[in-house]
Amino acid sequence: MTHSILQEEHRGAFDAHHPPEKTYINDCVHCGFCLPACPTYVLWGEEMDSPRGRIYMIKKAADGEAPLDERFRLHMDNCLGCMACMTACPSGVQYNKLIEPVRAQIERNVPRGMGERLFRRLIFATFPRPERLRVLALPLLAYQKSGVRWLLRISGITRLLPRRLRAMEALLPDVPDRFFERLPSSIQPKKTARRRVGMLSGCVQQVFFSHVNAATARVLAAEGCEVIIPSEQQCCGALMLHSGLEDHAAALAKKMIAVFEAADVDTVVINSAGCGSTMKEYGHLLRDDPKWAERASAFSAKCKDVAEFLCELEPQAERHPLHLRVAYHDACHLQHAQGVHDQPRRLLSQIPDLDIAEIPEATLCCGSAGIFNLLQPYTANQLGSRKVDNLLSTGAEAVASANPGCLLQLMHGLRRRGLKTMPAFHMVELLDASMRGIPREDLLHSDNHRLAPHV
Ligand code: SF4
Ligand code: SF4
Repeated sequence: MTHSILQEEHRGAFDAHHPPEKTYINDCVHCGFCLPACPTYVLWGEEMDSPRGRIYMIKKAADGEAPLDERFRLHMDNCLGCMACMTACPSGVQYNKLIEPVRAQIERNVPRGMGERLFRRLIFATFPRPERLRVLALPLLAYQKSGVRWLLRISGITRLLPRRLRAMEALLPDVPDRFFERLPSSIQPKKTARRRVGMLSGCVQQVFFSHVNAATARVLAAEGCEVIIPSEQQCCGALMLHSGLEDHAAALAKKMIAVFEAADVDTVVINSAGCGSTMKEYGHLLRDDPKWAERASAFSAKCKDVAEFLCELEPQAERHPLHLRVAYHDACHLQHAQGVHDQPRRLLSQIPDLDIAEIPEATLCCGSAGIFNLLQPYTANQLGSRKVDNLLSTGAEAVASANPGCLLQLMHGLRRRGLKTMPAFHMVELLDASMRGIPREDLLHSDNHRLAPHV
């Protein structure tokens, strides 16, 4: 009996396209070790909002004993996709292989209301489209620099916005003055190149965190890499894959693979944890496509988070002292989904005088979780506040992470406490500052390092 016929027989309430596989469902032995790791269970203590409860609901639906209805969707929508349950599970349950097909099943089979559909459409029409984000960046820059934002916030007018638009406004990053600049398509190291690497530009990252991309490229070049940044690259599809838009994600994955195949690089380096975990899954996403399955697996095998990659290289560039106490925040899609935990700490510990603080409850999500903080701002703010409490307890002067979504969520959480001045950096920015000998005060109190020439 073929695999697909087996799936057909056991799909229950799910449709025939990639129903969640029984083998993954049956790996769960209901021990409950994952419960304290799950942010929604920690907040609400509700079994159906725990990993064990969600897997039980998926099993019931797969056995044809429960429908795919709004209640089912609610508990699956409540899942942040943080994958902390995978790290905590002693039985090796691959929860990601369950929640992703289930989300796609929900999008196909459980209709959403008009408002919800429109809001999601707005997100998917803008966030993964850097060219549209660039068009939006100019009015946003005017909104922020003219004082209108300050006025609307101080007068409380932003509180009159609908809940989700209010969340969107509150999470807006400061638009960099040079948001329109793009990195060159190729950057050469000063000495002979020891590696030829491709670099992901990202979508939100290349417009609102262009300084992080510039720092990443500088660090890679300083460590002896020829850096290729193909201008044709588009969105990696992470937001779509994590939201159940499987076909859309697959189409973007194929474009990404083709672009980096043409670039002929040894490794594809990624500085955004959510994108990295998705690109490492392309092999699974395109497993049924005879034309792409093998290419996707080969591509995924080349993908590495920037910290993971740099740890494989013998350090070449000098690290100058940076007298700073910095708390390192683990992005869920790095520590749980990719298992990259020690490498960022190892890299930061190469910086003389840098004191790295560990944040209590480090495995708990900050509430960012892709677009979760836009869709469920109340829950995201609860988690964000808890993270900020834990962060402040370290006495750190700054916080570092490896994911733009986490940085936005942390900055938002700090602003809500009136702590606008606590800087939040991408881990690679600190490495870059150390390599360039940026003084501590410049790093903490000005944007100069961010406005410096790209390479
Ligand atoms: S992915 Fe995160 S939120 Fe979802 S069940 Fe697992 S631990 Fe809970
Ligand atoms: S997912 Fe893992 S840890 Fe959680 S109940 Fe199942 S077997 Fe236990």
